[in-house]
Amino acid sequence: MATGRVDLDGNPIKAMTICMIGAGGFIGSHLCEKLMNETPHKVLAVDVYSDKIKHLLEPSSTPPWADRIQFHRLNIKNDSRLEGLIRMSDLTINLAAICTPADYNTRPLDTIYSNFIDALPVVKYCSENSKRLIHFSTCEIYGKTIGSFLPKDSPLRQDPEYFVLKEDASPCIFGPIEKQRWSYACAKQLIERLIYAEGAENGLEFTIVRPFNWIGPRMDFIPGIDGPSEGVPRVLACFSNNLLRGEPLKLVDGGESQRTFVYIKDAIEAVLLMIENPARANGHIFNVGNPNNEVTVRQLAEMMTQVYTKVSGEAPPETPTIDISSKEFYGEGYDDSDKRIPDMTIINRQLGWDPKTSLWDLLESTLTYQHRTYAEAIKKATSKPVAS
Ligand code: NAD
Ligand code: UDP
Repeated sequence: MATGRVDLDGNPIKAMTICMIGAGGFIGSHLCEKLMNETPHKVLAVDVYSDKIKHLLEPSSTPPWADRIQFHRLNIKNDSRLEGLIRMSDLTINLAAICTPADYNTRPLDTIYSNFIDALPVVKYCSENSKRLIHFSTCEIYGKTIGSFLPKDSPLRQDPEYFVLKEDASPCIFGPIEKQRWSYACAKQLIERLIYAEGAENGLEFTIVRPFNWIGPRMDFIPGIDGPSEGVPRVLACFSNNLLRGEPLKLVDGGESQRTFVYIKDAIEAVLLMIENPARANGHIFNVGNPNNEVTVRQLAEMMTQVYTKVSGEAPPETPTIDISSKEFYGEGYDDSDKRIPDMTIINRQLGWDPKTSLWDLLESTLTYQHRTYAEAIKKATSKPVAS
């Protein structure tokens, strides 16, 4: 069926059925929303959780997408229904993964199984049934920059050749095996190589996405509110939690690592272009990030504190930040990526995509959401009388 939509080359786009694995997570929830609101495509949403897409599955009135999204609660580790769902679809998008750094060194087996072993049947079913696959990898696949091995005062550290990360040229540089932080990156690297080989040897039509710190509403959880009290989410949720509770933000190893952050809504535009432009996206690996939004983690903490003060009307914590060692925060075996600047040449050339939202603006909308969603719940949780 034609959709009235045209691709980047002016050809009509046909409505498709998409098997989205990990649809109930942060990225999946935004992608489902986009597909329901702006396209006629159908989604078979696969996950073990559905809280983040509840508003799409059980809306208060009948929305135009009512018959276009179906939730399938299943664990892809051990469910024979998976192949049937992939066969029923034109495209499979695999987002399922353990992808919080606090797990990489403390649950390395689960991390490796989730990011490599559990993804194997997905690749196999797509290849055997000649179905297109969009697989979510990570920017962490690049590991450390070449520049990080140069002397601290070397002028070459300022040369982009030594730090900009290019899909088709940069090496993947991980630490030693005892630094189990790299279990995730290594598992993601091997599944990328397997998908690439399936493309080369068996003709699998694939696209690999390497997200560079996508952030926004619904990312992870707030410990003790909608996730475990002792849980350690990714940095946006850690710092949001600190701000909501009026506590100092914890800077791991001084907060010197650098990251580029992209707004989830910008990044989802890139994924939709991949979905609807297979001729331009197949066979490619894409960095998806915002090279203009680079900060150190310390600068991120400072900016989040300023933005939160503005959106909440509350005074900043008396001690805004404290330093903590990575060993104390994450445990043995943690290591870090020093700097992550995506090269944008390939995505720009193939899909004409560029990120738009500045770091300040994306933090303002995200922290407005965090405050609206969690401030009351935190107040209630912290004012409960202690049992005697
Ligand atoms: P997320 O944890 O919010 O979402 C992952 C979803 O997969 C969760 O809902 C989880 O329940 C589901 N899942 C995991 N294992 C499953 C299984 N065995 N069966 C069924 N469902 C399962 O994470 P996210 O941020 O949305 O990330 C999605 C993908 O993007 C991951 O592959 C991740 O490695 C990659 N990625 C994301 C970022 C980012 O900036 N958010 C950065 C790098 C890579
Ligand atoms: N980090 C921090 N304090 C926190 C949480 C994270 O200083 O409370 C640091 C972490 O050590 C890393 C960066 O923030 O250098 C980004 O961490 P995140 O968990 O978002 O994932 P990563 O970008 O490393 O994949």
